[in-house]
This record gives sequence, structure tokens and C-alpha cells, in this order.
Amino acid sequence: MLPFKLVFREEYYLPFGEHVFPSSKYRLVHQYLLDQGVAGPEDFAAPCPASDEDILRVHTPMYVNKLKTGTLSAREELELEVPYSKELVEAFWLQAGGSILASQLAMKDRVCIHLGGGFHHAFTDHGEGFCVINDVAVAIRRLEAESRIQHAMTIDCDVHQGNGTAAIFGEAEEPFPPPPAWSAGLTAPSRPAHMKQAHRGDVFTISLHQENNYPVWKPPSSIDVNLPDGTTDAEYLAWLEKALMTAIEQFEPDLLLYFAGADPYREDQLGGLALTIDGLKRRDEVVFRFARNNSIPVMVTLAGGYAVRLEDTIRIHANTVIAAKAIFSK
Ligand SMILES: [Zn+2]
Repeated sequence: MLPFKLVFREEYYLPFGEHVFPSSKYRLVHQYLLDQGVAGPEDFAAPCPASDEDILRVHTPMYVNKLKTGTLSAREELELEVPYSKELVEAFWLQAGGSILASQLAMKDRVCIHLGGGFHHAFTDHGEGFCVINDVAVAIRRLEAESRIQHAMTIDCDVHQGNGTAAIFGEAEEPFPPPPAWSAGLTAPSRPAHMKQAHRGDVFTISLHQENNYPVWKPPSSIDVNLPDGTTDAEYLAWLEKALMTAIEQFEPDLLLYFAGADPYREDQLGGLALTIDGLKRRDEVVFRFARNNSIPVMVTLAGGYAVRLEDTIRIHANTVIAAKAIFSK
């Protein structure tokens, strides 16, 4: 039996159809953990969908109404990069409910892993990049409303910058005029990794990501670590440690929300970093040790993962559970 819960429901499936996003991954991770004896049936907790009230703490009434009535514009649907359907909307309400439950359980058990979630490209008034609802932001606002937390820190280790989360909590303004839409392959050649800081507000956001990748417009997180193409395990882990140390010197969160993206993997189809499966597991260990050593509860979401071989994505996500088990069993 694990010393923490895994939030999951059999209904976890995103109705994307044939798509680079492997929407079967949630069930496959669940099955893998059972097959490998990492977890037993008693370790799972099933969420309910978030309420509209929960969603409306983050998203605008107009956007929520469009989602519920199927009245997104053609452009808005295109930006989602996944086909709109009523089932899609229901799936995202459930995913947001999963992140709420996982955050509540993390406050109780020190750690909780949501075998879903991490839809960090959703903004208050629109979705993009496969993300409809910003489940982590919804969870933070719910726990604040319940007076369970006052300050939260997001640690986004997906290969893509957490633009929606940064904008929601940074109150960033759109640059004017908006940047041209260009493909990542045409942007400037990579620079050495560098860190930028700009913090304000009750939520401290950290994002480590490939600079030369979607999104082109990266609204400022509290700490952005812009990594060059081909960043290796050792370089990545050093930047992660540096970002966490810098953050904790200036901010004391009641809850950490960790996006354990599988897409910094060197064989990812949508990423250009060069981490190995072992390096990604060590990344998880760094975050879990940081949480444990600072006595801050941590809620984990899976976020992206588009490896050439689906089994690699499953293994990377399952390793996050194995890493947490090792560190929080002590
Ligand atoms: Zn991603």
C-alpha cells in the first residue's frame, strides 16, 4: 500500500480521436502501476467533476458559456488543437475535479499524484495547445476558497512553457501588437539557458521549458528557465535545483503543484530537450526531496508526453509514482 493516494477514474479518457496526444495514457499508466505491483486497487481515489462554481473562479463566464453551449468561434476551436465536443467539455470538468481532489489529499498525506491534469495552456478566456480548462489553477482557487491554503507554488517541468498558468497568476497583459504566429522551427537559434524573474501575487509560478518551442508568446512566470535545444539530464537538473533554491528564498508556499511532464524526453515528438528516462525520474526525485525537506505538501499532475513509443511515455509517468513512493516511504 502506498503512503499516499493516486487520483484516477476509469472514465479518464480525452475524446481527441486519432491525435498526437495519446488520450489512452491515463488508463495505461493506471494498468501499468497495478501490473508492476507499484500500487494496489486500494491506493486509488476517484474524483467527481468540478462544479461550474469551481471553474468560474478561474475562467470567464463568457468562455464557460461558449464551452457549455458549443458556441466557440472557428478560430477558438482551432486554437484548442483538439476537436470540440460535449464529451470534451465533460472530460475537462472531470480532470479539474481530479486536481481539486488531489490537492485536498496532498494537504492531508503530504503528497498526492493525479494520474491526469496539468493543462497549463488554458487561459481564463480561451483554451489552446490541447488544454481547455486550467485544472491546476482551478484547484488552487478552490483550496484558497476553502481557506486550506493562502500561498501556492507551481513547478512546471513540462517541455512547453506554462503560458496559461503564468498569465492567470501573473495578470500578464497581452503584448501589443500580438506576435506573429510562426512555427517553432523558424524562431531564433538557441541561446544558453537563462533564468528570468518577475514575481507578484499569491501564487509563485516556476516554469522550466525549451525556449525554442510553443508557445511563441511566453507570458512571464515568477521564474522562467529558458532552456536551449538538446539540454541534457545534468544541465536540466542543475537548473531545476537552482530555480527551486531561488524560489524558496523568497516565497513560502502552503502547497506545491508539480507538473511532471513526460515531454522533456529526448524521444518526444513535440519536444527538443534531451532528457533520458532515468534523468526524468531523477527530476521527479529532486522535486519530491525539495517538498519533503521543506515540509510542503505536493500535488502532482502528469501534463504532456508524446514519445515516439507510447510505452516510454507510460514508463516516464509511472516512474513519477515510483519516485514519490521511494521518497515519501522513508
Ligand atoms: Zn507539453
